[in-house]
Amino acid sequence: MSSFEATNHYFRKAAAIMQLSPSIVEHFQTPQREVKVGLTLEMDNGDVRTFHGFRVQHDNSRGPYKGGLRYHPHVDPDEVKSLASLMTWKTAVIDVPFGGAKGGITVDPKTLSPAEVERLTRVFVDKIHDVIGPQQDIPAPDVNTGAQHMAWIYDQYSKLHGHSPGVVTGKPVELYGSLGREAATGRGVAIATVEALRMQGKDIKGATVALQGFGNVGSFAARFLVDAGAVVTAIGDHTGAVRNVHGLDVGKALAHVRKTGGIKGFDGGDALKSADLMLLESVDVLVPAALGGVITRDNARDIRASVIVEGANGPTTPEADAILDERGVLQVPDIYANAGGVTVSYFEWVQNLQQFTWTEDEVNEKLKAKMIRGFETIWKVATEKKVSLRTAAFLVAIGRVGKARVLRGLS
Ligand code: GLU
Repeated sequence: MSSFEATNHYFRKAAAIMQLSPSIVEHFQTPQREVKVGLTLEMDNGDVRTFHGFRVQHDNSRGPYKGGLRYHPHVDPDEVKSLASLMTWKTAVIDVPFGGAKGGITVDPKTLSPAEVERLTRVFVDKIHDVIGPQQDIPAPDVNTGAQHMAWIYDQYSKLHGHSPGVVTGKPVELYGSLGREAATGRGVAIATVEALRMQGKDIKGATVALQGFGNVGSFAARFLVDAGAVVTAIGDHTGAVRNVHGLDVGKALAHVRKTGGIKGFDGGDALKSADLMLLESVDVLVPAALGGVITRDNARDIRASVIVEGANGPTTPEADAILDERGVLQVPDIYANAGGVTVSYFEWVQNLQQFTWTEDEVNEKLKAKMIRGFETIWKVATEKKVSLRTAAFLVAIGRVGKARVLRGLS
């Protein structure tokens, strides 16, 4: 099943409970705009290479399109459509006034120099600038993109349209970014974990956590989980995995990753096969925090964690979702669990539009309130309707997006 089909599967499951008409189902399974551009880049050595860039705008019923840009060799039109749709539902679940979009470039940025990545980013903006904008579509960081990329996008877009800090979020704090944005997704994942355990009558203190992925989302989630009293017993990334039943030192693990480029070889624990990290015994919480499609029908039966908190977008295939539900594993779905990032993106956009800055405490408090409220909302629906948290999150999101769409008119 393709990524977009997987997202639509979850959408249809909730749509069926809501008895949405086939024409409305079709409407929300069809992105409003799909842009594909050729990006020709002059390499440092004078060679010329052409890459493919994408921006998919799924739905803007509730506000301007919103969503990240990823630079990865696996970026393709299907995946971007899936991720754009997830953004529509995510912004609705967490209740920020945006629609959903996603974009990316099919490239392994590790094979490019920083100057090449900058030129590629600027060429991309030249190709999509007329479909993005502070009131139209607002990109943000995603896999392999961060504050520096957003600074280039802000700069290139502003050359064409005049000073426009609100065209992109996740910018450096020194350049119209928001305090707390970089850590926001991981902070939100930690809050989601605390809430999920609390609702199950369990305490975060002493809970054991395995993290699959240790980039922006995984590393900040790890830090906040440890601050809350959890014990991070396993960390894995694309280079390998490490385990220590007594708890890994997250700060030291991060220092190792910064120095060597990956968790492999970190001496704070024992080396582990990446695939085995998901299946560890005596792990209470599993946090997939990297790429999509990692929890599948091949490993879902062997996962021992009782709670899965989806830091990544689309980490669980529908087959795995069904198996985990049947086994009673509590899945905290991506469209809620990793919504902390887009929530603080919203705060950044508001600060940009108001030309005013908030303190880090203000941002963090507002984020916490949104995450807790989001959890309470989906938990209540899940309990009332006797559905999974994922289906509950889609029910809430479709209800909000559908209502806005009907109020505005369908076309
Ligand atoms: N890329 C992040 C996500 O998938 C953040 C999107 C945003 O801030 O617009 O939620």
